[in-house]
Amino acid sequence: MIVAVASGKGGTGKTTVAAALSRLWGGRRVAVDLDVEAPNLHLFLRPVIAGHQESGIVVPVVAHPERCTGCGACSDICAFKAVLTFGDFPVVFPEMCHACGGCFAVCSEGVFAPGRRVLGEIHWGRVPSVTGELTFVMGEMRVGEAMSPPLIRDVTHRMMDMRPSDGDAILDAPPGTSCPAMQAVRPADVLVLVTEPTPFGLHDLDLAWQAFAPFGVPAGVVINRAGGGGLAGDAAIEAWCVDKGLPVLARLSFDRAVAEAYAQGVPADAVSPEAHAVFADLVKKVQALGQGQVSKESRHVGA
Ligand code: SF4
Ligand code: SF4
Repeated sequence: MIVAVASGKGGTGKTTVAAALSRLWGGRRVAVDLDVEAPNLHLFLRPVIAGHQESGIVVPVVAHPERCTGCGACSDICAFKAVLTFGDFPVVFPEMCHACGGCFAVCSEGVFAPGRRVLGEIHWGRVPSVTGELTFVMGEMRVGEAMSPPLIRDVTHRMMDMRPSDGDAILDAPPGTSCPAMQAVRPADVLVLVTEPTPFGLHDLDLAWQAFAPFGVPAGVVINRAGGGGLAGDAAIEAWCVDKGLPVLARLSFDRAVAEAYAQGVPADAVSPEAHAVFADLVKKVQALGQGQVSKESRHVGA
């Protein structure tokens, strides 16, 4: 089972949930940080890193400028304006290239040779001091790089290679609903949406569901910092969940001790017995959700 922990916005507690699920899941599993622009799952899991690998894309390099006829086919096909021609001299802007291969395909003169643009690094290892066997994989985008989906795809492939055939995976997806989040959530069998009871939280939860619902996988909602009132309190989130037919899998109350521990890289389930109990129950509910065992009657815990 592959579980994606996602959110419509940053700062909802997605990584807190992903870390706790990874720690308490049991058995053989892989924890994967796909939030490659700002990975921080390792701060809570503290893995022993065993390997690294660069991740990149193939970009064109002008290898034979003397062959260029100035036909302009390469610049015409490039939707990203990453290759331009000045008379019979092509110029490539590799940082804008999306590696579609179009310019290679249309240049009949063989002007271009494949080059490489490094997007970031993949790191992997093991997490000691947890029950069962927890493997860890993360992606880390290069400073100044803007294109993360190919790196996320490579991290996902690495996860697939390292995941035992009988093992599960917990993915910490990037926040939001743009290409990186869609790429991260794509392989999931189960989706856990983390939100907070604020107007922004509800608004972005709705956006996330609009983006992810077409994947058609079982999904549920975790309400973090539950218990607040205001314009969009727990009741508004729960009403939205009823409307969408989604279970509320857990409610995490605001706890100052948990917030202080977070700032020091200590997992919530390790510092608070209440949080540990909530997360242990969440593990059971997510596993049941993935096995199709969450009935409509049990969809609203505590309701
Ligand atoms: S397609 Fe090839 S020959 Fe034509 S302008 Fe581009 S580099 Fe030159
Ligand atoms: S590979 Fe595609 S995106 Fe990159 S420069 Fe060529 S046509 Fe443009």
